[in-house]
Amino acid sequence: MLTALALIDIDAGTVTSTHLESAQFPVEDLAIHRGEGIFETVLVSVDAETGAPRVHSEGPHFTRFEQSAAMLDLPAPPRELFEEAVAAVITAVIGSADLSTARGPVTEFSVRYAMSRGLDAHADPTAHRAAGVPHGARGWAFPIGVTDGQRAQRTDGVRVVTLNRGYDAYVGESAPWLLIGAKTLSYAVNQAAARHAVAQGADEALFVSDDGIVLEGPTSNLVIQRGDTLLTPDPRAGLLHGTTQRAVFTGAEAAGLAVAYADLTIDDVLEADAAWLVSSVRTAVPVLEVDGKTLPHDPASTSRLHGWIRAA
Ligand code: PLP
Repeated sequence: MLTALALIDIDAGTVTSTHLESAQFPVEDLAIHRGEGIFETVLVSVDAETGAPRVHSEGPHFTRFEQSAAMLDLPAPPRELFEEAVAAVITAVIGSADLSTARGPVTEFSVRYAMSRGLDAHADPTAHRAAGVPHGARGWAFPIGVTDGQRAQRTDGVRVVTLNRGYDAYVGESAPWLLIGAKTLSYAVNQAAARHAVAQGADEALFVSDDGIVLEGPTSNLVIQRGDTLLTPDPRAGLLHGTTQRAVFTGAEAAGLAVAYADLTIDDVLEADAAWLVSSVRTAVPVLEVDGKTLPHDPASTSRLHGWIRAA
């Protein structure tokens, strides 16, 4: 069921539907051996009554994809091709013979779409700027299931450990080549941090800058509540500006709460009335513990965040 794959030939302007098992990808593609590419993961929910699918925060995801492309000097991703690819994957999942599993009908899944720079032979970073020059970039989209563990975290929460990200806050402003704030395919460091957190007996990592500013999780943003205000680290400090965090802020403002981007310390998080890690697939996950210290948790506030994210 979750085996659909749509391949995008950007130079030819075509989308081909195929299956993950029959996918072929050139090993010399720069995405494979240099992580030179960008991606997005969108949550798709399926209406239980009508079976109609909905892509959450579709526009903000694609806008960030375009921004990531610009930061890597990649060609602008053709929106209509990526929309066609995502739609083809969704149709394949929804149209598959059996949407039921042992747990019941599938009501949500995610779709990941990505674009690579292409082959080494096409790696001239300026070539794409010349109109009509083929650049060899390729795109693809495929579905991923939402796991039981991810679903459970939405209500059960996580214990996090803080990890030094190894650079000062705001370093990206003077060092754009660090690609801070771009969603690139170079996620080995994020994965290593997540494993390191688990090895320390926690569920999740929380990156902190070398100069003590709280940044983000390896695949999520932090939102804290202080009284009637929701706060999140300033993306310019050195993190990915999340679509889910923006959806939470939109919902919170509509509900009459104040929202703000701010430089937060670990103490700010420990003294918060509540804290969540927010991201597209897990939505909002309450943070129960930071470095072994307990945080307050109110399930009603968490479900309010879930509602705002679902509405986006
Ligand atoms: N920060 C990082 C490093 C991420 O990888 C992600 C998502 O995967 C996020 C934050 C949250 O972004 P979004 O809410 O758009 O999924």
